[in-house]
Amino acid sequence: MKFYSTNNSEHQVNLAEAVIKGLAPDQGLYMPIEIPVLPKELLDKFPEMTFQEIGFEVIGALFASTLSPEQIRELVDHTLTFDAPLVKVEEDVYSLELFHGPTLAFKDFGARFCSKLMSMLMEKSDQKVRVLVATSGDTGSAVANGFLGVDGVEVIILFPKGKVSELQEKQFTTLGQNITALEVDGVFDDCQKMVKEAFLDAELNEKLLLTSANSINVARWIPQCLYYFYAFSRLPQNDKKVAFAVPSGNFGNIAAGILAQRMGLPIDQFIAATNVNKVVPDYLNGADFQAMSSIATLSNSMDVGNPSNFPRLLALYGGDEHALKDNVKGYFYTDEETVEVMRQVYGTGYTLDPHGAVGYRGLKDFMEENSKFQGVFLETAHPGKFRGTVEKALDLTLTLPERLAAFMDGKKMVESMGNDFAEFKNFLKSLN
Ligand SMILES: *Cc1c(COP(=O)(O)O)cnc(C)c1O
Repeated sequence: MKFYSTNNSEHQVNLAEAVIKGLAPDQGLYMPIEIPVLPKELLDKFPEMTFQEIGFEVIGALFASTLSPEQIRELVDHTLTFDAPLVKVEEDVYSLELFHGPTLAFKDFGARFCSKLMSMLMEKSDQKVRVLVATSGDTGSAVANGFLGVDGVEVIILFPKGKVSELQEKQFTTLGQNITALEVDGVFDDCQKMVKEAFLDAELNEKLLLTSANSINVARWIPQCLYYFYAFSRLPQNDKKVAFAVPSGNFGNIAAGILAQRMGLPIDQFIAATNVNKVVPDYLNGADFQAMSSIATLSNSMDVGNPSNFPRLLALYGGDEHALKDNVKGYFYTDEETVEVMRQVYGTGYTLDPHGAVGYRGLKDFMEENSKFQGVFLETAHPGKFRGTVEKALDLTLTLPERLAAFMDGKKMVESMGNDFAEFKNFLKSLN
């Protein structure tokens, strides 16, 4: 499989380069040059197949020219070690629970796939890959847990001291093995700046193979299409149309759903649901695309003012804005509306997290205006991950799932560091 840059279709690279580079040199996003279409006879068999079997077919269609069947099997088995149950919430409305992985959010799928793929692509190299990550919380935990124990890859996480919640911090500072956490005396922007400087430093890049694992990397983006195939296969078979509502921030998740559609999955409608960081819903409703500074909300993993995967959305429709706006409807909600939805759905016996609540509401508003649909909303995080918000909104005490509670018993292991690049560079130079 080969990839082009969304900034220049002439710039083409192979899988290894797309994954190790992450971003094209012209700052474009990598996109597959050809998207394979799965035969209908195969899709018709998915309802009888397991998640892993479906994953093997889909990843096989995408990567067969680059990876062996054994590698594809290994990749899929490493990624899909937990289920993504489709839970009926009410008539024609289903929650796709993507929070059963190690850090209880959907980013676990992409992080696990990415780590394994990087290690495979580097197998014949005697160089170790160093993944540098600056985090304000969620990305660090998903990447650290996804890469834990993976051969040939070492992860270095920079996080701002005292600015990450205790639970989030525990999820990436207690692991050890190939995961190192650096506690930076500064803010998130300092961490990000230090990482960016390292990528540009000639001396470091001569000595070390540095890469990033952020959400625009194709190795994190592509595997997200798997659970759309799986969810679709678990819906009741009838003549209703199918809508998927995706609570969105950087728009990678929904773009992966559209990739599944391009591969032949007959999804009729996408719903992009956001909080008040509503650049994309505004665009879909007729305004110009206008990036803005992000606004803090209760669904804080979606507080994105300049969604990084937007070029991917356009590319999936061949630049046809009309087709994009037709196939993807945009909705946005305030924190008050989010809490109201959480309360209302809790009353029917289902507990939403603030992100899933935004997705649910988008789906409901769409279905109100469009009949003959059944719909799936993506529940992107476990409610326990946003415990404070959920407990306050619903006036209850949540018990943390065991695997989340287990992190709290771990011992924090960090190296402390100032916020200047020289110190970070010395640290990196001392690695071998
Ligand atoms: C990252 C994240 C999102 C947003 O996903 P995108 O792919 O950036 O649109 C939504 N919900 C949760 C819980 C997240 O962690």
